[in-house]
Amino acid sequence: MQKKLVVYLYLLIGLLIFSGCSNTMFQPKTKVDGIDADKVVQQVLKDPRLKVHYIDVGQADATLLQFNDKKEPITVLIDTGDWASKDVVAYLHTQNIKDIDIIAITHPHADHIGQLAEIIEAFNVNEVWMNGETANSQVFAKSLEAIEKNGVDYYEPKPGEIFDIGPIEVAVLHPTTLSANTNNNSLALRLQYKDMSFLFTGDAEQQAENDMLKQGANLSATILHVGHHGSNTSTIPEFLKAVHPEVAIYSAGVKNSYGHPDAEIITRIESSGTIFYGTDINGTIIVETDGNNYNVSSQSTPSHSSSDESCVNINTATIEEVQKIIHIGSTLAVELIELRPYLAIDDLVKINGIGTARMKDIKMQGIACMEAKQCIQHISTD
Ligand SMILES: [Zn+2]
Repeated sequence: MQKKLVVYLYLLIGLLIFSGCSNTMFQPKTKVDGIDADKVVQQVLKDPRLKVHYIDVGQADATLLQFNDKKEPITVLIDTGDWASKDVVAYLHTQNIKDIDIIAITHPHADHIGQLAEIIEAFNVNEVWMNGETANSQVFAKSLEAIEKNGVDYYEPKPGEIFDIGPIEVAVLHPTTLSANTNNNSLALRLQYKDMSFLFTGDAEQQAENDMLKQGANLSATILHVGHHGSNTSTIPEFLKAVHPEVAIYSAGVKNSYGHPDAEIITRIESSGTIFYGTDINGTIIVETDGNNYNVSSQSTPSHSSSDESCVNINTATIEEVQKIIHIGSTLAVELIELRPYLAIDDLVKINGIGTARMKDIKMQGIACMEAKQCIQHISTD
């Protein structure tokens, strides 16, 4: 039986009181690719604690939050990694998770909603939050099916709503309205635990950041989850100034084809005095806090290595690259790309001109792939 979670919803009737930053001290020790890798002096933490895992999921997003409400464990997940992988499911198993109280999906792109259906099937999920935007993709349809089939509660939080989830206050900051740009429809959440605060904005870009600034919401956060994988579409100077984080963490795949995080964003964040972490450099990053002090730890080595050059990912390779696959010439390459995404190599038979005999040749040749660890960083719906 699923654990009953009591969520209190309050109307936003006044300004939130932000009670300052923690007093953690940092001592930069080493540099890896221009990013400080081992930076935080370990603090003695009291109980109860909040543990936030910025999971290494390649070019995708997934953050796990664990805390207690009067000794009852609470689990919240923000985004569910990429559709072509099972890494979030695997990570949740390694953490001995059985029940998940809330899964918040920032937006329905496949690198954020990716493993929602699998997670619902594998764990007791109580409630799913979404931004209300629908997507014409198999992964979205599969997610809705899993929600319905498993009787999971569904909710679309709106800006101005504040939830008390045990000792954590969750304020909804965005989106007020949905636009044509899915990234800018990202659900934005600010979490407050005593003196510590955490901001999550999904793939929100400049327009969404400006909207949040205009609305005068409290954006300040001790720990910033950097928007849109560190892309230069996001983290505009005014937004960064309003957040004023002590630590910024982005999620991106090793040597991803988007060039995330952008060098300009790294410079902007580091020059503001913020300590910068990324899953492509540091692997999974864990922030643990008693609400006053905090520690940051990381695996130091990302598990998602760079792509295998012999592999042509049928979901992400360029029009030139897919022509390395036998029988795929320039015409079929266009069709191959139009029919994405593929859930299996065998789905290439959907291409007009690829029958079972040609499919056999493709498999014999063996360069068409969709294996997550090799090619996950090239998924196009970032
Ligand atoms: Zn994304």
